[in-house]
Amino acid sequence: MTLNATHDPKLQSWVESANSSTTDFPIQNLPHGVFRRKASSESFRGGVAIGDMILDLPAACARGVFSDVSGEPAEAAGAATLNGLMALGPVAWSALRLRLSQLLRTGAVEADALRACLLPQAEAEYALPARIGDYTDFFTSYHHMVNAGRVFQPDAPPLPNFKWLPIAYHGRASSVEVSGASFHRPLGQTRAPGAAKPVFGPSRRVDYEMELGCWVGPGNRRGEPIAIDDAENHIFGVCLFNDWSARDVQGWESMPLGPFLAKNFLSTVSPWIVTLEALAPFRCAIPREAGDPPTLPHLNPADPNQAFDLQLEVWLHTASSGDTPMRLSRSNFRHCYWSLAQMVAHHTEGGCNLNPGDLLGTGTQSGPQPGEQGCLLELSLGGRQPVQLTNGETRSFLEDGDTVVLRAWGEKAGAARIGFGECSGTVLPARP
Ligand code: MN
Repeated sequence: MTLNATHDPKLQSWVESANSSTTDFPIQNLPHGVFRRKASSESFRGGVAIGDMILDLPAACARGVFSDVSGEPAEAAGAATLNGLMALGPVAWSALRLRLSQLLRTGAVEADALRACLLPQAEAEYALPARIGDYTDFFTSYHHMVNAGRVFQPDAPPLPNFKWLPIAYHGRASSVEVSGASFHRPLGQTRAPGAAKPVFGPSRRVDYEMELGCWVGPGNRRGEPIAIDDAENHIFGVCLFNDWSARDVQGWESMPLGPFLAKNFLSTVSPWIVTLEALAPFRCAIPREAGDPPTLPHLNPADPNQAFDLQLEVWLHTASSGDTPMRLSRSNFRHCYWSLAQMVAHHTEGGCNLNPGDLLGTGTQSGPQPGEQGCLLELSLGGRQPVQLTNGETRSFLEDGDTVVLRAWGEKAGAARIGFGECSGTVLPARP
């Protein structure tokens, strides 16, 4: 996907807050979400983030501003779930993006009519942006694999399949919720190292996972794989994704079939979905080093620029840290060994069908440097080396009252800064 007029860093919006150099949502972004007025009984409907406001799409449609090829996608983007928009595909998404860019530009004649269609994000609450039929969690960060492997199986060599295929397991869609969801510390079966038998009780090793979520666009029929060079046409966009994990449950239950209850009590997505088109300025080559095995042809794209240079961060608010968050993790999505397109192609290569609104988690994203570990399991070496917080507290794993906030953004010379907003959640005490 190439750059076009909607990426022009000089574009300004008549929505003043969209012109700030620090906003996540300049006119070059235009992410989609589902919202309503906070604590109201209004229907949830689709909107687009612009600066610190939301453009209410049903309200804008009612003013007749989408009467060209953008009409059908604008109607779909205003629905209570975005599955219909996701099903339309990249030509429709791009037509809508261009029209939104024209409507929100400084000087647009529609500005006066559309001012009444704005709601401050501070006055909104969000729903899941789509009905999620299936959720799949990948494991695509080489550095996460090495770091987590050292904790769970210190003597084991790196997984022999990691650089040949994007490893994944089928996750649980019912417990994916939108940012702001809290959860009670999960109960589960754990076995302490060396103990003769397991115990049942609250997890002592609740963790976050710094991931991105990939929302599937048009699906494929069962038995008809999606080719690697077509795969991005089946990706609607990307969100923040926290795949909360109970590491002690995970360590005991995962052999031989992988995580189960350790990961299905909650996963959190950010409300805004940033389209692949908005991310075009941040494309870079999939990382491959001399000595890496050759990528098999069915996973090898003609254009290797399928990775994205996106900064990732995780911030912690503890019960006693008040409004001053402390940064726990920082890395970059460009380190991800497998591209989103490779995940889609691999997912379908045996005949599995994907549907609009299916969700793929990228797996925890970690980088090669200290501080670039994307979860506490890695940062604290499985609890052996607690993380020192700037307020004097320490953390091996999350404690009751901890709120975790994920952020991500792309930033480079010659392009507008494209952000993802935030994805937050709070750990509550275990139920008695
Ligand atoms: Mn995960």
